[in-house]
Amino acid sequence: MGKTFIEKVAQRLRIIPNLNRRDAEGANGPLRAYPDPNEWHDHVELDANEWPKMVEKRYSLVPTTCFNCESACGLLAYVDKDSGQVSKFEGNPHHPGSRGRNCAKGPATINQINDTERILHPMRRVGPRGEGGWERISWDEALDEISTKIRDSLKTGAKDRVVYHVGRPGHEGYTNRILKAWGVDGHNSHTNICSAGARTGYALWHRHDRPSPDHANAKVILLTSSHLETGHYFNPHAQRILEGMMDGAKLIVIDPRLSNTAAMADHWLPTWPGSESALFLSWASMILERGLFDRDFIENWVNWEEWLEADHPGEPREFDRFIELLREEYAQYTPEFAAKECRIPVEQVIEVGEIVANSGSKLATHVWRAAAIGNLGGWQVSRTLHLLNVLTGSVGTEGGTSPNSWSKYKPDLFDIPPDPDGWNELHFPPEYTLSHYEMSHILPHLIKDGRGAMDVYFTRVFNPVWTYPDGFSWIEMLQNEESVGCHVALTPTWNETAFFADYVLPMGHASERHDVNSYATSSGKWVAFRQPVLREYARREGKEVEFTHEVNPGEVWEEDEFWNELSWRIDDGTMGIREHFMSPYREGERITIDEYYQYMFERIPGLPEAAEAEGTDPLGYMRKNGAFLIEEATYNKHEEDGWPTPSGKQEFYSNSMVEFGYPEHSIPHYRVMSHVHPDNLQGEDEYCLLPNFRLPQHIHSRSANAKWLAEIAHRNPLWVHPTDATKLGVGEGDLLKVETEIGWFIDKVWVTEGIKPGIIGCSHHIGRWRRKQDSGNRYMTNEVEIEDMGDGKKRMRTVTGVRPWMSDDPDTNRVWWRDGGVHQNITHAVQPDPISGAHCWLQKVKISRPVEGEKYGDVEVDTNKSFEYYKRWNEMAKEKEVHPRGERRPLWMKRPLPPRKEHWFIRE
Ligand code: SF4
Repeated sequence: MGKTFIEKVAQRLRIIPNLNRRDAEGANGPLRAYPDPNEWHDHVELDANEWPKMVEKRYSLVPTTCFNCESACGLLAYVDKDSGQVSKFEGNPHHPGSRGRNCAKGPATINQINDTERILHPMRRVGPRGEGGWERISWDEALDEISTKIRDSLKTGAKDRVVYHVGRPGHEGYTNRILKAWGVDGHNSHTNICSAGARTGYALWHRHDRPSPDHANAKVILLTSSHLETGHYFNPHAQRILEGMMDGAKLIVIDPRLSNTAAMADHWLPTWPGSESALFLSWASMILERGLFDRDFIENWVNWEEWLEADHPGEPREFDRFIELLREEYAQYTPEFAAKECRIPVEQVIEVGEIVANSGSKLATHVWRAAAIGNLGGWQVSRTLHLLNVLTGSVGTEGGTSPNSWSKYKPDLFDIPPDPDGWNELHFPPEYTLSHYEMSHILPHLIKDGRGAMDVYFTRVFNPVWTYPDGFSWIEMLQNEESVGCHVALTPTWNETAFFADYVLPMGHASERHDVNSYATSSGKWVAFRQPVLREYARREGKEVEFTHEVNPGEVWEEDEFWNELSWRIDDGTMGIREHFMSPYREGERITIDEYYQYMFERIPGLPEAAEAEGTDPLGYMRKNGAFLIEEATYNKHEEDGWPTPSGKQEFYSNSMVEFGYPEHSIPHYRVMSHVHPDNLQGEDEYCLLPNFRLPQHIHSRSANAKWLAEIAHRNPLWVHPTDATKLGVGEGDLLKVETEIGWFIDKVWVTEGIKPGIIGCSHHIGRWRRKQDSGNRYMTNEVEIEDMGDGKKRMRTVTGVRPWMSDDPDTNRVWWRDGGVHQNITHAVQPDPISGAHCWLQKVKISRPVEGEKYGDVEVDTNKSFEYYKRWNEMAKEKEVHPRGERRPLWMKRPLPPRKEHWFIRE
């Protein structure tokens, strides 16, 4: 891959070494960043611990990918040839997305694999669920018992009682294939607390539901996110934003909080949460008024005629008339109106609007989390943001914003079972007709409401008791064996949800498992291979390894092999499941993991040729290099393929919105007032709690067992603007009580100008806990007591903060921090948006000083109140429920693991 301009400059200035120098000989060669892959099995470098003695160490460098966020950056595991263990992780320079770089969470993978508290053996519950009693069992016992329960459920004919609930998939289609083989509509995800709001806005335009901004080539980079560049595509995007800026791009960040990205911006617009659509529409109006729109793109690729036909039937179907009518339609969105809604100066609206309006086809935009997932009507934020791309003609262009699916490789699988023969109404209840993903955040309420139950429930990279709003309702659901017959937690480490499982099965970290990854982190398309590094090291050393657990620590399995083995055991020979697990290469025999990936890699365009050039096969190429660039750039694909919408165009006008009962939203507008709009806050004591931002070092519950990350960040104080601190009469470190609709928590104050007045910020990535009887994650967890006070009321109090402890790792006894933060998420009410289905994270809160007896870290919640509150929000969807032609949802829209077409219709 050619070097970028930034790399060339950085290389000349010696900020980075010359990557072309491959002439080093052992540890005495010149300094260089990385050895050539041909030298990776015999890499020599000096042992830093032996300095000043020059002691050489020999390594085998094995590529894999990081699993600490969605970006799947390349990692190189340094396997020490003396110990046969991984010594450290660095970046993989041959990974096209990350190009050798990582954020702090990548190298911290070494902490996770060496965590002294990780789970090493299968565990089965002893005593009542959730009380903390466990016994070690064999994998055979676990597999036999769980497969029997699944078989029993499947044999009833139910298609919705075996469920796999995933936080972060980290692979491409593996478990969907498994669920299809079982015949269940059993996929659930975390997306409705994450990106479903933004996805809905994009899907309305062009079915593709995520943007892929080409930051590196942009003229203007416009970000609307609470943690965009500290979370999603963090490192790959951050490096490209910097490249764009060094080439002269302007960075605009819209966020009520001064994030790390906002701090680097040319323009920071601290808008009031939920007002962003007003801002974007005012800029759209400026573009139209100034004639700066891309006539060619809009005329040819937007369904403007459908709008004229539906809403202006008496008007001529002429493009110029359309533009005139559009100007009139959006004339209401003046800069003054936007400034009032956003609570920012009108001069800033105009100044930044001019930059956006003049960006032409090089406007790179992104919205993730934050506004789109924070607010009632958050989906209209991405819809109006994309309108700016449409008007400027920057959709799919170099330097513009493309659909992410253009840059995402979809693998060819060796066997595709039929689509599920059923529809799971616990995941897609009929009243959420446009919900883009599963209504996972209201699952406990749907079950409490008598809408169904589960026989076997898998949670995997998923910790809703802690991560989700209203965690006590999750505990109630998990503890009720009639709601959840059996709960199996697949996890490398203990977490708050695993405490309420029947089986806890240890799964591998990033370097202990197989996955294939492909993400739209740039304008190109790449595929990467997450591989168990000790298995590859053993292969290089000429040792036979049949299963990954043979080389993993303890009895840690990888999930690919787990699902295959479980599926095999479910089928008693009569269920047709085993036929989906047969080798495509060896007649009548079970498929192996190597064969699974061999089949896939043989079909990646260009890979067989690249492999041949290196004298290997496609699997060998991926084992050796870890990643492959399929396409350098993926611009303007619509010119060949069109847009996958009913009109075949970008849908400015959505007939689906009209048909499904929302005619007021037929075109992008600002017609839903957020639940935290200032008009909805009662008086001076009510604030907007902004809880949905991420710290760069943490990622929900996965990073807790990484000691380096925990040392850097372990508290989540309340961000309070000085004017609010004065009003509340508090200073740094004072305690405040934050009261939500269903409970309250007590946290410490951090006075900062980095938050908009009227908004209280608090990261939801901290505040982990364990009870006296629980294990694990002591770098990040407070020990707490949970008290059931009756009538649905629960109380959690901190017994002790983080403390050092003795273990084989001396660092555990060097832990100096004591404050593990506060679990605020558990006090949040669920707030499902009636259109996108997304949880609206922002909370209306009352702020006061704690009264006597209330202490830091205290939490109280009333789950009866939370159920009643859920019903009020649920009513909004029910009131609007319509099913044109009997369709549960628009047939053309995507759905995870789509069932057979006949199930997309409501049965009378
Ligand atoms: S950005 Fe994500 S994938 Fe990349 S190193 Fe950081 S945590 Fe890992």
